[in-house]
Formats: sequence, C-alpha cells, structure tokens
Amino acid sequence: MPKVPTKLVSWDDIVEWSRGLAKKIKESGYMPDVIVAIARGGFVPARLLCDFLDVENLLSIQSQHWTEAAKVADRAIIKFPYKVDLTGMKVLIVDDIVDTGESLILARDYIMKEWKPDEVRIAALQWISPVAKLRPDYYFIEVKEWIWFQYPWTRLEDTYQFIKRMLSEEGKYKKEWSYEELKTKFMEWYDIDVGDEYFRDAIEMLVEKGFLSRIDKDRFRVKG
Ligand code: ADP
Repeated sequence: MPKVPTKLVSWDDIVEWSRGLAKKIKESGYMPDVIVAIARGGFVPARLLCDFLDVENLLSIQSQHWTEAAKVADRAIIKFPYKVDLTGMKVLIVDDIVDTGESLILARDYIMKEWKPDEVRIAALQWISPVAKLRPDYYFIEVKEWIWFQYPWTRLEDTYQFIKRMLSEEGKYKKEWSYEELKTKFMEWYDIDVGDEYFRDAIEMLVEKGFLSRIDKDRFRVKG
C-alpha cells in the first residue's frame, strides 16, 4: 500500500474528462457568455471547455488555498483582486477539482459581488463528495475517497514536493541515495510513475534548492 493515496492523471484523461463535462453542461441547456478559470488548476480545463462549448470569453482569477501538493493552507485568498463589469452575462466558473471547496466558494462569492453577472454556475472535472463544502453544478467524476490526483500540469512541482516529503522522513535514517533507490522508494510511497524525465528534473530542482547534494551523476546526499 502506498503511504499517500495518489493517482496519475494523463493529458488524454484531461481531454476526455473535459469533453464529458462539456457534454453535461450542453445537455443542461446552460450557455455561458464568459468562462472564468480558477488559477491555477482550472486553466487547462477552462481552455478546453471554451473549445468544446464554443465560448470566446475567458477570464481568470487566482484563488489560492493549497500551498503544496497534498498539504492544505489555513484559508483561501483572492490573490490579485480586480474588477470587471459582467452585468447581463452568464458565467461558468471552472476548476480542476473541488476538494475542500473553499477556494471556489471564495471565488464564486467574489465574482458575484464584484463582477455582478446575471448568473454563476460552477464546473469541475472532479468533485470529492465526502469532504467538499460545495457541490459543483457540473462535474465529470465524483470521487468517494480522498486521493491526490497528480495532474499533468503540476507533474514537476508535485514530484519535487513528494520526493522532498519522502526524504524528510526516510532521510533521517539514510543519508545517501542512488537514483534507483530514490525511484524505488518513491514508488513505495506514492505508487505512481511520473517518468524519468520528470523524476530527474525534480531531483535536479532538489539539488538546486539545496535539499540534496550531488555525490556523482547518480548518487545524492540528503543535506542537514
Ligand atoms: P476547491 O475550492 O476547488 O475545492 P481547494 O481549495 O480544495 O479547491 O484546492 C485548490 C486547488 O488545489 C485545486 O483547484 C487543485 O488544483 C488543488 N487540489 C486540491 N485538492 C487536490 C487533490 N485532491 N488532488 C489534486 N489537486 C488538488
């Protein structure tokens, strides 16, 4: 059993899920004038929904809650608040996943109050129903047990954070690691294969940021 429940999501999955989500929105008869992507996770699904739903107007707002992969920050904030006039328009807010729902609730309330559209609905590729404080109007997948979905747009960031977290535990007992040992331990912890290119990039980032030092090409030492 992996230590952190994680599932790798491919680009193909994303296209398929976005297409399915668009179909549900279309079938409901809702025709948004504007799509608002919640940055950063909603960017790719929002762009794909513009394509599938034939929507030209795409805005974004950054509502942040999570600071790093699978770790939650205290509260959500609108990072760069700004105003636009959306009176008379129908809005579709798009995010990748509704986990706690807090960043979406904040974004929705902000948009309704400050941008004043006629109607706001929410769409997400995935909805973690047991933990979410909000049920999106549209979702493609209902997730019934909490999992960290390793989306393709955070592959490097997540791999970096995951290795770092793994080594802050495992590195207490073992300081020197070969590339292969790191990969094996990563599989034990997370049970996902991000591919060698991402894995090497993540290790390089750990070296650059001073968390690991390089002994030779394929051997590393945990610092501190
Ligand atoms: P929301 O308000 O959409 O539920 P959260 O505040 O819970 O969002 O999380 C914000 C962002 O963090 C999500 O849009 C997503 O990009 C990322 N995230 C949160 N939970 C997960 C998860 N279980 N798997 C992958 N990414 C996640």
